[in-house]
Amino acid sequence: MNYNLTKEDINNLKNKKLFLFDMDGTIYNDDKLFFGVKELMENIKKSGGRYVFLTNNSSKSVQVYIDKLTKMGIEVTEDNFFTSTQATILYLRKNCYYQNELIYALGTDAFKEELKKQNLNITDKLVDDIKILLVGYDTELNYQKLIDASNILTKDVLYIATNPDLVCPTSFGFVPDCGSICYMLYNASKKEPIYIGKPKPEMIKTVLQKFNLHEDDAILIGDRLYTDIASGLNANVDTVCVLTGEATLDDLKVTEFKPKYILDNVNCLNEIFK
Ligand SMILES: [Mg+2]
Repeated sequence: MNYNLTKEDINNLKNKKLFLFDMDGTIYNDDKLFFGVKELMENIKKSGGRYVFLTNNSSKSVQVYIDKLTKMGIEVTEDNFFTSTQATILYLRKNCYYQNELIYALGTDAFKEELKKQNLNITDKLVDDIKILLVGYDTELNYQKLIDASNILTKDVLYIATNPDLVCPTSFGFVPDCGSICYMLYNASKKEPIYIGKPKPEMIKTVLQKFNLHEDDAILIGDRLYTDIASGLNANVDTVCVLTGEATLDDLKVTEFKPKYILDNVNCLNEIFK
């Protein structure tokens, strides 16, 4: 069976002004852009709408995404992105980062750079006065970092992770993501982090606020039920689940996170603009 938009769906979606896309498994896998994505972005822009990429992937900086999508032929600036790293920085500043506390950052060099650029007090060395352990999706993970993090978790520190994803899709299948790193740390420490990023609604709400738009103006498009679709439901915006990434039709039958629309791929959304 093919999952496409009906005439009624198309009428409902014509008024959307903000298209919030997940990236991995939704618009591409690794370096392979899915069919119709470029056309879709052009269509959204031509119609006066906006597209913003919301990603839980904290292993890369916004600049890396700008370069990647530009190379793929999609027009983007910083305004077209909101990452779980940016959401985590906002969360820290709003909720628990008052006195420039020392943060042990377990993540990639790009992740640590982004935190430093925002003037957070970061270390990746095991020192005495660490107050916060912050874990990201670390594609440069090594065992020493796990030892350090486990050591830090024996103390009374604030424990935060950028995103709860257990796996990240690749061209050949999946690799362990931030949630899986935290699961290793859980087995050693019995401690669980506060997860930022999707499925929390904050990433979506922040973007709506930034562009002065209402929930009804937006649609969230993603491939994963427990993060993407759940974040849309939590933020009260309409959702599309595409079948090009993690979620399968079997998952959709049993999930508590029911998307408003199910589509074979993002190319189906081009129908809105015909
Ligand atoms: Mg995804």
